[in-house]
Amino acid sequence: MNEINFIDNEIDVHLNKNQYRIVVNEGLIATAAKHINPLLHEPRVIIVSDKNVAKNWMLLLEESFKKESIEVCKIILEPGEGTKSFAQLEYLTKSVLSLGITRKTTLVALGGGVIGDITGFAASILLRGIGFVQIPTTLLAQVDSSVGGKTAINSCYGKNLIGSFHQPLLVLSDTNSLRSLSKRQLLAGYSELVKHGLIGSHSFFEWCERNSKKILAGDSATLKSAVLESCRIKSQIVERDETENGERALLNLGHTFAHAFEAEAKYSEQLLHGEAVAVGIILAFELSQYLGYCSMQEVIRVREHFMDVGLPTKISDISNELWHPNDLITHMQRDKKTHSGRIVFILVNKIGKPFVSKDVKLDDIKKFLVSTLN
Ligand code: NAD
Repeated sequence: MNEINFIDNEIDVHLNKNQYRIVVNEGLIATAAKHINPLLHEPRVIIVSDKNVAKNWMLLLEESFKKESIEVCKIILEPGEGTKSFAQLEYLTKSVLSLGITRKTTLVALGGGVIGDITGFAASILLRGIGFVQIPTTLLAQVDSSVGGKTAINSCYGKNLIGSFHQPLLVLSDTNSLRSLSKRQLLAGYSELVKHGLIGSHSFFEWCERNSKKILAGDSATLKSAVLESCRIKSQIVERDETENGERALLNLGHTFAHAFEAEAKYSEQLLHGEAVAVGIILAFELSQYLGYCSMQEVIRVREHFMDVGLPTKISDISNELWHPNDLITHMQRDKKTHSGRIVFILVNKIGKPFVSKDVKLDDIKKFLVSTLN
């Protein structure tokens, strides 16, 4: 792929029961109401956001609804992974109910993956299911979490263990919103973006190698192409396997490791999800090579790209503490992706050719982790 050339800025996601549209463009928050209005059954929306995002983007979104004579109610949560908790879910659902809702009420999630995940989950259980719209404002949320309908909160037993599949009515990805995002957050989102090349398209990975600097410098046109292509790869997989009975699991490349790291780091801001995923992806390539599935050249190529853009590539890059292999394995065994007691890994034969493995022996995982931790 030399250049990604999209005729328009939209992707239609076709699922068994419903269909929704992903729109990617600059300035979409200012015109959001025009896109959302045709989907509403009442002239009111409830916007859920976090303090950081609201400070930067709420006014613009509210004005857009005002112009269309749509009433706006707002619920602002604390930023950060800690918000994906039962306590915050209770607060959010009670706040929504206190506004007097019906099944026709629509929630609008304005924020990153945290706000998208908890708002989507709340929408799926309020009155047994109401509609919601995603307006993702981090790179990670635009390329990944806003697409595919997975919603969840965390539990003390692990990440995203309490959730549902609940598809949004619409996704509006305003690439301008990334301008207020920190460089660290942008880079963390890049790991989920490049993941889509690593699992679904060798040519998209090559395109990322050539265009990563522009993406991370916030170049509008390149960002738009990257978000669109990423959403295209993910949504095609979701269309074939909406509830993860097979192929969709490939999107979890790096996540078996990443979720264990996040649990060890106690979901603190010291380790962002995308950073954990970056190291997890490298370990998934290294484990594939260790088990004889993939060549060292492939591992080196991916690792060099990650180092080139500034992503962490090894455990010591993300933690000063000494993590014990047994503790990491305990977290992995609690992950919802375990299968009959076996830890599920996404391994690779090469870039763009992943596969699901339920056969890695515990002993091999231990030996591999010991070798990488030393
Ligand atoms: P996040 O939502 O915590 O956002 C990161 C930080 O950036 C927060 O402090 C937020 O307030 C701030 N922020 C967001 N947008 C901003 C903007 N435009 N300007 C300034 N600040 C902004 O984190 P994230 O990385 O977007 O999402 C991570 C979450 O997504 C994790 O919980 C992960 O499990 C989840 N996730 C879900 C899926 C899915 O399919 N549902 C997929 C991948 C990740």
